[in-house]
Amino acid sequence: MTGISFEQVAKSFGTTRALVDFDLDVEAGEFISLLGPSGCGKTTALRVAAGFESLDRGRVIVGGSDISPIPAHRRNMGMVFQSYSLFPNLDVRANIEFGLRTRRQSTTERRARVDEMLELVQLTDQAGRFAHQLSGGQQQRVALARALAIRPDVLLLDEPLSALDAQVRSSLRDEIRRIQAELGITTIFVTHDQEEALSISDRVGVMSNGRLEQIDTPESVYRRPATPFVARFVGRINEFPSLRLDARTVECAGRRLPVASSEGSGSRDVLILIRPEDLRIDDHGFDGSIVRSTFMGPVRTVEIRLDRLDRIVEVVEPCSADVRHPGERVRVSWPSSELLVEDV
Ligand code: ATP
Repeated sequence: MTGISFEQVAKSFGTTRALVDFDLDVEAGEFISLLGPSGCGKTTALRVAAGFESLDRGRVIVGGSDISPIPAHRRNMGMVFQSYSLFPNLDVRANIEFGLRTRRQSTTERRARVDEMLELVQLTDQAGRFAHQLSGGQQQRVALARALAIRPDVLLLDEPLSALDAQVRSSLRDEIRRIQAELGITTIFVTHDQEEALSISDRVGVMSNGRLEQIDTPESVYRRPATPFVARFVGRINEFPSLRLDARTVECAGRRLPVASSEGSGSRDVLILIRPEDLRIDDHGFDGSIVRSTFMGPVRTVEIRLDRLDRIVEVVEPCSADVRHPGERVRVSWPSSELLVEDV
């Protein structure tokens, strides 16, 4: 087992800077997701690791050596793409065997390895089928088996679930995690779906403009975002324009309220960022009117226009709470600690 490290990697396409001083250490056996908006450089990071893109600067270290000068076909990487990239003229068994053929293994060894992979992805009974005879989820399981058959150092997954419908997507997501844990293979998973990243990963790396903004456990990225960008990108957020009065107090819509983060001094304009599930509808706090209440299954999302702030905030309540009707007058109370205070 080995990890993979990107050290100060830079990659541009013309004037577009896809990766800028990109640093990432993935430990052996770790499952990392790269999450970020479209165009932030996630796929480029994977392609650099796979050797499909050369880098302008920096190093990619696997097993203690810099692999950046090594061509893609001589790197030991397993990659699964968003599109089902199976060879249409080969059946499932031959697709999985494909990477092994170039590795000078005996027929018996290859056959045993393919059988093992078919069992791992639970497709033994589909071995003779062709891509057009398989569902999208099955095709991606074959692609996964093909990538794993060569015993890669690192598994690189580029949005492998995004073409699948919701149910298949979530079951294949669990399947990928099970297989990854069983094999203990170092994995980088690229996605722009935050729920996917949060639910599947040991750590989540949030990217913006070719850089890592934060890399941490899913809980920390969500509950302790390092930057306002991370706070806004991962999960929902409410923003309260306020005036910082001193280290521990802000004024918002005429009310003096405590804040937990005590950085800086002097009075200045700030935004207080608060998650919807941290706000409460109760008897004190800001006055407002219900705009809309949306049933989401286990929870209800309630939008409230606050009188003195002239903005709508979102509160998440358990669906066992009373149903709220548009126009109903309520009060929204501030939690004991905000998510983040941003200077503006
Ligand atoms: P998405 O979620 O949309 O797939 P991404 O985060 O994976 O986005 P990349 O595909 O890595 O982003 O692209 C990063 C930037 O580099 C984008 O601005 C993209 O347009 C640009 N880019 C990527 N590949 C090329 C290329 N071959 N030629 C020119 N520009 C490219």
